[in-house]
Parts: sequence; C-alpha cells; structure tokens
Amino acid sequence: MAKKKGSMSSKKSGAPVEAAAVEQKAETAKKNTAKAVKEETGAAALKETKAAAKELPKAKAEEAVKEAPAAAVKTEEAVKEVPAAVKTEEAVKEAPAAVKTEEAAKEAPAVAKTEEAVKEAPVAAAEPVETVKKASPAKKTAKPAAEDAPAVKRRSTAKKTSQPEKPAKAAAEDAQTAEPASAAAPEETWVSPRRSVAFIGSECYPFVKTGGLGDVMYALPKELVKQNCDVRVILPRYKCIPWEYHEKMIYRGDFQMDLCADGRSFYVGIMEYVWDGVVYDFIDNEEFFSVGNPYTNLIEDIPRYCYFAKAALAALNYMDWIPDIIHCHDWQAALVPVYLRTQFARTKLTTAKTILTIHNLRFQGIYNIPTISYWSGLPGYVFNMGALKTGYQDANMLKGGLTYANIITTVSQTYAGEIQSPYYGETLDAHLRYHSGKLRGIVNGIDYDIWNPAVDARLYENYDITNVLDKKKENKRKLQEELGLEQDGHKFVIGLISRLTNQKGLDLVNAILPQVMDEHTQFVVLGTGDRVYEDSFRYYENAYKGNVCSNIMYDETRAHRIYAGADALLVPSQFEPCGLTQLIAMHYGTVPIVRETGGLKDTVEPYNMYSNWGNGFTFDRYDAGLLLDAINRAKTFYFENRWCWDEMVQRDMDKDVSWESSAKKYKDLYLELA
Ligand code: ADP
Repeated sequence: MAKKKGSMSSKKSGAPVEAAAVEQKAETAKKNTAKAVKEETGAAALKETKAAAKELPKAKAEEAVKEAPAAAVKTEEAVKEVPAAVKTEEAVKEAPAAVKTEEAAKEAPAVAKTEEAVKEAPVAAAEPVETVKKASPAKKTAKPAAEDAPAVKRRSTAKKTSQPEKPAKAAAEDAQTAEPASAAAPEETWVSPRRSVAFIGSECYPFVKTGGLGDVMYALPKELVKQNCDVRVILPRYKCIPWEYHEKMIYRGDFQMDLCADGRSFYVGIMEYVWDGVVYDFIDNEEFFSVGNPYTNLIEDIPRYCYFAKAALAALNYMDWIPDIIHCHDWQAALVPVYLRTQFARTKLTTAKTILTIHNLRFQGIYNIPTISYWSGLPGYVFNMGALKTGYQDANMLKGGLTYANIITTVSQTYAGEIQSPYYGETLDAHLRYHSGKLRGIVNGIDYDIWNPAVDARLYENYDITNVLDKKKENKRKLQEELGLEQDGHKFVIGLISRLTNQKGLDLVNAILPQVMDEHTQFVVLGTGDRVYEDSFRYYENAYKGNVCSNIMYDETRAHRIYAGADALLVPSQFEPCGLTQLIAMHYGTVPIVRETGGLKDTVEPYNMYSNWGNGFTFDRYDAGLLLDAINRAKTFYFENRWCWDEMVQRDMDKDVSWESSAKKYKDLYLELA
C-alpha cells in the first residue's frame, strides 16, 4: 500500500505540467476544428441556400443568399461552445476515477480513520476535500471526446417499427421516393453529462427480491450506467443472500457508528461487489441482518431500517464517495434525506440532492414517536406534523422522507395523481398534495436481459415475434403437462402471478372464479401471501381438478414458464403503483387483463374493436362484475376472432417496455437537479 501511495504523489506533481501541455494541444485542435467547421458549414449552407434560392422569386432569393453567411457564423459560434461543454463533462467524468484512486490509497489507514469518519465528523470530511482539489489539475487534461467511448451515445434516426407494416404498394412508393442511403444526413452525436448516483434500498435482484422493488433496484442502475451514470447501490447484507454472492464480496472497511438517542453505537461493515458496471455496497451487521427474510415485523424492521438509512450515508462518507444524487427507495430508505439534512448537514455529503421514489405507498414505516426517536437518534424538531409526526403520537418514516427529499417520484404518472386523493393516498394524500410541486411519475420498465423469450433459458421453447404463434402453443402444452392440467391446446389459459394480498384484487378473482371456469378455460396462479387467499386458491384447485392449478410458492422458473405458456395474464389490482407483471406478460406475447389503475392504466392500452388496436382488456371500477366482463370479452375475442387476437399478441411483443426510455427520464431528472 505504501508503494501505491508513493506512485500517487509522483503522479500528482507531474500533473500540472502535463495538464498545461495537453490543454495547449486541445486549444490548437479546438481552433482548427472551429475553422474547418466554419469553412465547411458556411460553404455548405451557402450552397444549399443558393440552390433553394433558384426556386424562389428573384428578390426573395437574393435576401436568402444574403442571410446565409449569418447562419454560418451562428453555426460556428455553436460549434465553438461544444468543446468547452465536452471538457467540463469529461472533467466531471474523470472525478470518480480520481476519487477511486484516492480511495484505494486511503484503504491502508482505514482502521485508524474509522472513528472520526463515522461520527459524521466535518473534520474527517475536510481532508478528502483537499485531496480531491489537488487532483483537479489532472482532471483538466481531458482527452478528446471520441476517446471516452461510453459517454458518447449515437442516436439512431431509425425508429422502432411498432406500427403495422404498410401495404406493399405504399412501401414500394416510399422506396422510390426515398433518398439513397449514402445521401442521408450524418448521425447526430450526443453526449449526456455524467452524473454519480447512490441508490439506497432494501432489496435488489438477484441478491434478495420480494417484489417489483427488487427488479427496479437491479435494472435501473444497470441502464443508468449505459446512460453515462456512475452508480453505487447500497443494500443491507442479509443472511438470505445466496452464498455465491457472499463469496464474491470484497471487504471494503468497517467502523462504529452512533445510532440511538442514548449514543449506543453499532458496527458497520462494508462489503463490495462489482457487477455489470454497477458497484454494490452491502452494509454488514449481524445484529440487524441475520434474519432470513428482509422484512419480519415492524418491531424489528423499525430499528433495522433506522440503522440502515444512517449506515448507508455513513458508508458513503467513509468511502469518501460524494454522489451528485442520492436516490432512495420506499420507507426503508426514507430516513436518508432526513439524516442528510440534519445529522449529516455538515459533511461533504450535504451537496448531494435527494430523490425519494415511492414504489408502494401502503408501506410507510409507522411506529410510536418514542421508539423511532430512540432508534433513529434524530433531533426532536423533525417529529413535527410537517415532517415525521403523524396522528397524535406516531412517527411516519416515509412522511419524513417526503418532506426532506428534493424530489419525490413514483412509478407511474397515474399513480402520482391517484395518491393525492384520499382513496389512494393511504392517509398521506394531504401531505402529498402539499408537496405536489416536487412529485413526478416515471413508469418502470423490464430488463430485457432477464425477460427475453428469445433466449430465456427457463422456457421450454424460445420464441420471438416471428414464431410466437406456434411456439406459444408448445409452451402452453408443456406448462399444462408440468402442472398436471388437462393437455388441451384449445383451452384459454389465464395466468396470475402475484403477491397474494388484497392490493392485488384477489377478492374480485375469488368472487367470480366459478363463473370464469368452463370447459374451455384453465386458470394458473403463482404466489404467496395472505393465508385467506392461499387457502381459497387451494380450494379452487381441488374444486376444478385438472383445470385450476394453484402454485402457492415463490418460484422464478415457474413464473417465466407461466408468462410464456398462458394466453392471458390477470392483474385486477385495487391499486397498482406500476406493476411489472403486465409488462412482462406483454413482452412474452401474453395478453394482459387489467384494472385501469396506476401503472396498469399507463401501460396497457385497452383494445378498441373499431380501430382494432390496443394491448389488452381493461375495466375501470373495482367491481367483480366488471372484471368478469373483461375476462369474457377477452375469451370471446380469443375464440371468435383469433386472427385479431394473434395480431394483438404480436403487437404486445413489439411494444417497447424496456428500461431505456424510463432510465432516460431519471437521467434527465438527475441533470435537472444537479
Ligand atoms: P409488487 O412489487 O407489488 O409485488 P410487481 O408487479 O411490481 O408487484 O412485481 C412483481 C414481481 O415479482 C414480478 O417480477 C413477478 O414476476 C414477481 N413475482 C411475484 N410473485 C412471484 C412468485 N410467487 N414467484 C415468482 N415471481 C413472482
């Protein structure tokens, strides 16, 4: 380590000289480029304008020609500004690298530093500021943009073909009028500035997942890395994480952290795992995270997530990694913005902006004030009605986070609106209306690396949009075989993959299932949850032997096979912030039948028989009769209009439900904030 330190310092002293030389070169290159561009752009613009002028009346043509050089000058000005922007961005981009090198060198004295760093001591924070500053001349020696490949994104002008194919004649006409490929304008090159983001949340696939949050915590950071973000995901190191991942984690450091109101302190270990460009930092503490399931009961969960929120910030401080954005998820991480603006207000972390994403407003982390006050150690003034206090004597961790976060997001536009009403607001509607100015909705996507029927190793038969109609039949037959259902390709198979809780509209399903079940229909459910629903589905399996299969379990492979083998997927939720199952279903060519709420409304376009367009079947009010009607419409369509049904299957598979566009919206939000 000592050797490493030495090499660092020599590098630093040489840096300003190198910096000056490279900067000089960059300056010359900049001038040459600007000159070349001026000549070329000006000439081209003039030529074009002259050509256009030929077609105009004379007077107008002359005017246009006169304007051409001015346009060229403007273009040149714009071009001149580009290198500066690129430089700034690159300097920012190189910062994490510099910090990382610093961190590596700092690891040796880590143990000695432990105590100071943890106690959020501004003193400890002051030193790293110095080192980062020292490194800044080196940052200026920015290389030309083209060398930083990941930062540069090419925007393709070609659009995804989500529209139906044009008739042959029209296509031929288009082909005739189209310009030859070589004459097409050069592709636009766009550089998105780099941002660093710390994701803090309680679960993340494949380490631990109980629902959609786990999927988002995995897929969104991965996509953000592609969009020029530096992402660190901070998670608890639960014992239930598969051993294969525990094995790969690398010890990053540890320290003691004051937590409780009486100054009781706890061990915080940091274990790191880097995968797909994302750095995962696991907060290690046997006392809090040795239980099997991430969520047990509030008595244990409240101390656990008070500890986790504070430890996540302390770990960032300890690693001296100061992100532009701290992106927190759900109530388990909701105290992060509160800690940041109180106990961490005098650390370097305070420059970070916070986003709190609500994945499900139903879960808020509510407990009595004395307990949360003791475990969090937060100052008394945060327990007021504008922040953590709720009702007469309770504290609400999510509510506090909503108050202190710079931006609140939720996982669909519709849900962002719904939660401001008493019906969906879970008692926080007034609070959310008050903060509506900073509330946004960004819909989730799915990870195409995991959910791709063309290569999904869990499927019996892989397929894509070209052969879905045949291969889906195969998947259906094998699913029926595996589940012990009657093997009949003509039956309409309805799937339901869900946590079995009342949020998911299972009361409606229970009420109408006997009316749905006829000799042409099969029903497959996969899920675990409330006893009452588990038992009722077991009952139906017994009552409709061979046509109903209740898989009361959590099984990823089975989920994939149901998505591929079913004809339709039921999501009749009472409320649904976003919902991933309908997205996955569509991507697997399975038609969703959903209630028009939250993300379901935003992602499933109801079938319109007049325009023969749409992605699925929907109903609006939370009413069993309407659910039955939607299922019957789907069934009738399937049996009587198979041609159009098949078109819908292909349309669904073609729909873009990836993370790309949603991650771009998050990136834009980061840019707007920092
Ligand atoms: P929520 O987050 O409310 O549980 P979502 O629709 O957002 O619901 O996400 C559910 C995710 O969990 C999907 O990826 C779904 O496939 C998966 N899932 C739910 N239940 C099971 C189960 N029993 N077995 C396997 N995967 C499941």
